[in-house]
Amino acid sequence: MTETEIPGSMQDRPVIAVMVEPGKPLELVEVPYVEPGPGELLVEVIQANICGSDLHLWRGEMAEGFPRDCVLGHEMAGRIVDVGEGASRDSAGQPLSVGDAIAYRYYEPCGHCRSCARGLYHHCPVSLASVLRPASKAPRLVGAFATHYLVTAGRSRFKLPPACTPEVAAGANCALSQVIQGFHEVGLRSDETVIVQGCGGLGLYAIAVAKSWGAPNVIAIDRIQSRLELARAFGADSVIDAGSVEDPRARTKQVMELTFGWGGDVVVEVVGRAAVIPEGIRMLARGGRYLELGSIVPRDTVSIDASILVGYNRSIVGVSLYQDRSLMEALDFLAGTDAPVKTLVGQTYPLEQVNEALQAADALQREGVSVGRVGISPLAKGA
Ligand SMILES: [Zn+2]
Ligand SMILES: [Zn+2]
Repeated sequence: MTETEIPGSMQDRPVIAVMVEPGKPLELVEVPYVEPGPGELLVEVIQANICGSDLHLWRGEMAEGFPRDCVLGHEMAGRIVDVGEGASRDSAGQPLSVGDAIAYRYYEPCGHCRSCARGLYHHCPVSLASVLRPASKAPRLVGAFATHYLVTAGRSRFKLPPACTPEVAAGANCALSQVIQGFHEVGLRSDETVIVQGCGGLGLYAIAVAKSWGAPNVIAIDRIQSRLELARAFGADSVIDAGSVEDPRARTKQVMELTFGWGGDVVVEVVGRAAVIPEGIRMLARGGRYLELGSIVPRDTVSIDASILVGYNRSIVGVSLYQDRSLMEALDFLAGTDAPVKTLVGQTYPLEQVNEALQAADALQREGVSVGRVGISPLAKGA
């Protein structure tokens, strides 16, 4: 990577949206053009989504240990504008050239720790920190809320299948790959029953992926009618309206009735609140696995009667980040699915309106009505 003041093939300098302080408006900053070094790709960001964790960071709920001057955004897809030496193939061996649309892993492992030695890059202690790097240091093109992003040599990258647009592919990073990784980690089998707590973006992906893996019985739980309708459109066999069935014990009873008294082999938590965890565990079958994806905010706690785990051979599996395999599968899934995945692409704002976009996403999440992601695209037209 070399920074240069003379923009090679570009008319304008790249622009990044810097979070100087949580809760404050992001600042748009022009930065020098970056020539990709060996193994690197420079991409123009086509679509960036605002993920729930971007909102948590922006609200200052998870700021500990992260740099003050970071560029948010990790759900993204882009188009190659410059190819570094030796970067002419993607991580699956397909040729890459300028103009190709790609998705790329948003984190970068260290490559020389015990987890990396085992190929478990998503367990690498450096991986999560690599998502948020200081924008004050080169290469500066380190987040999706920007016109450009430097795909460093340690980030895997995949050319998009022809049937997968960058707008839809942005959701593969983070949300969809996370769901697929989670199902791998809990060893979801094709004859198993899946219960999904929460039908936002991750929940809807979880429903569609579970069905595509062969799950014969997928039950979705939410309290918003429009989300429950989407849950059915994404393939849920039954839905439970938590708004009308207020008592958690009644909801668990309903799950048991829908699973012949057995319970779910896998229950996925994507509500994002620890309070729903005990209820979800009680919905598990004997030997069931509780897949914890949603609760990422520190100090959101709940107490659990451990005997409901031990006595039933149930386990809790927490999953963060994903392996390359899951990102590749996510893109293939998006290219081939009949589920209405385009509905998860919400309103998209131009980069100049990044603060309006954040406020819109924040309001939707606080009201608990968000389904799709609010998007940001340097290519979008102003409202
Ligand atoms: Zn490592
Ligand atoms: Zn995310």
